[in-house]
Amino acid sequence: RSNAEKFEFQAEVSRLMDIIINSLYSNKDIFLRELISNASDALDKIRFLSLTDKEILGEGDNAKLEIQIKLDKEKKIISIRDRGIGMTKEDLIKNLGTIAKSGTSAFVEKMQTSGDLNLIGQFGVGFYSVYLVADYVEVISKHNDDKQHVWESKADGAFAISEDTWNEPLDRGTEIRLHLRDEAQEYLDEYKLKELVKKYSEFINFPIYLWASKEVDEEVPADEEESSDESSDEEDTSDSKSDEEGEEEDAEKEKDEKKPKTKTVKKTAYEWELLNDVKAIWLRNPKEVTEEEYTKFYRSLAKDFSDEKPLARSHFIAEGDVEFKAVLFVPPKAPHDLYESYYNSNKSNLKLYVRRVFISDEFDELLPKYLNFLMGIVDSDTLPLNVSREMLQQHSSLKTIKKKLIRKALDMIRKLADEDPDESNDKDNKDVEESSDSNEKKGQYAKFWNEFGKSIKLGIIEDATNRNRLAKLLRFETTKSDGKLTSLDQYISRMKSGQKDIFYITGASKEQLEKSPFLEGLIKKNYEVILFTDPVDEYLMQYLMDYEDKKFQNVSKEGLKIGKDSKDKELKESFKELTKWWKGALASENIDDVKISNRLADTPCVVVTSKYSWSANMERIMQSQTL
Ligand code: ADP
Ligand code: MG
Repeated sequence: RSNAEKFEFQAEVSRLMDIIINSLYSNKDIFLRELISNASDALDKIRFLSLTDKEILGEGDNAKLEIQIKLDKEKKIISIRDRGIGMTKEDLIKNLGTIAKSGTSAFVEKMQTSGDLNLIGQFGVGFYSVYLVADYVEVISKHNDDKQHVWESKADGAFAISEDTWNEPLDRGTEIRLHLRDEAQEYLDEYKLKELVKKYSEFINFPIYLWASKEVDEEVPADEEESSDESSDEEDTSDSKSDEEGEEEDAEKEKDEKKPKTKTVKKTAYEWELLNDVKAIWLRNPKEVTEEEYTKFYRSLAKDFSDEKPLARSHFIAEGDVEFKAVLFVPPKAPHDLYESYYNSNKSNLKLYVRRVFISDEFDELLPKYLNFLMGIVDSDTLPLNVSREMLQQHSSLKTIKKKLIRKALDMIRKLADEDPDESNDKDNKDVEESSDSNEKKGQYAKFWNEFGKSIKLGIIEDATNRNRLAKLLRFETTKSDGKLTSLDQYISRMKSGQKDIFYITGASKEQLEKSPFLEGLIKKNYEVILFTDPVDEYLMQYLMDYEDKKFQNVSKEGLKIGKDSKDKELKESFKELTKWWKGALASENIDDVKISNRLADTPCVVVTSKYSWSANMERIMQSQTL
């Protein structure tokens, strides 16, 4: 084309496309889900803008927020069209080829190991899945701010953009034409497409239509010869009749009409067939939604089409001054970029709706950062619909919604632990062991902890209001837990009589800690000590001062109190001279004090950190950060 401008794909995008084209992945269906999801996003965007600018939608068909799919069996093309926001020329260049997202390289990397192509949508590169089934793709798009353009590529490292002067003008929106590969002709089958849309796009909030063939009954003139005879007869008679005989003629005509002159034949016609019923699962009564429906809803929300189910779910309806409905999920796996730029990014996985209208999924006022791993939706009737995002962000109801969401989220996670038989304090508890779904719940909390434990720790650091609730969710190993995870409540239940504080130690690894002289005496005296080995634990313990009226004591620090011994005083007295001499000898080494201690068993002496200083482990962490 004469006006085509050529561009090269950004290198990572090009690699991604190569992987997709050459993939032996058998589930090629996913392209349709990704395209419908993009169409739905584009419709969400224009609908959101139309809240404050009614004109933007236009009139008639143009204002219909819908998705249309058409098949061209002869040319072997599937086209998917939406009346969404559309893309300007600039958008086409950036979004479809030149700007790699953070997920691009992450996905390429994943695919080189044991990645599942099915998860492409989670990495923000779902569009390119079109090359699973097509060898040539055209994207025709019209944005309100620009002329209509065509993006096209044969996935050969380059794409072209042209101002569109030959296609039918779209009022607004995007049409994607997939020229199917030879081996992907199965997608030209209407039945197959209907099935796919039903399977993958059940929770799309816009109507999806297929230009579908339909057998219709058509009335055609009955048997040719007979009817021509009859009509010629009729003509003859009517011709021969004079005007005066008109009445008689009418009577005869009436009689004739009772005789069938036509017959019905089956014919193929085309019409737009609606494939989905647009239903918002969160508006329904939680009692009436099945487990399977929730799982499917989770999958479409999270773009997580692995076989795994969400670990936990909470669907609730908040009433009172601030009304809203919400569904929250704990995904089975942490998203690839969960802790990437944790403090700079506002990325949340919660979708905000106001009265069924999608507003945003980047609304960080709804959940604190540490709960960003949750997936879900919130739909509020209390929030205003026709204000800007900035105004909405300052709305007073948000605080209430946030508070309730946190509470519900933490309840949901606690329940996950409570229902997990592995977590049971009392291993003989028959009720837990034998409940019907206990097998399914077994080990789920450990799984949760593995994926999201760090988030709970960050929560303890950041959320003073819910610190105690979060501390209940904490899991760790101890000198007595035998390689398993245990909780603070379990620790407390095992505390020795007379033990006042909760003992812990921090270090680089369990192996290293187990050899620590700080533990000798405690182990010998049968005390349990928590082993913290994650760097974040050191920060955590600066915030977690106490739990259930018990203080935390770092056993490598000053202040360790273990059962008083009658000999203590005597020993202190008899070694007074030695400790005094030692203190003097070490005065230049930043030593505060030299004391007789009962914390050791075999080691003769140990260096202990003073109460308000960094532990040796913290020194180590700080050093590794500054180096
Ligand atoms: P994601 O949807 O996760 O952003 P995709 O690879 O599916 O990633 O799409 C890339 C980008 O292309 C989208 O973010 C969007 O900006 C643009 N895009 C794709 N399809 C459409 C569409 N139908 N209408 C408007 N923009 C689209
Ligand atoms: Mg997408």
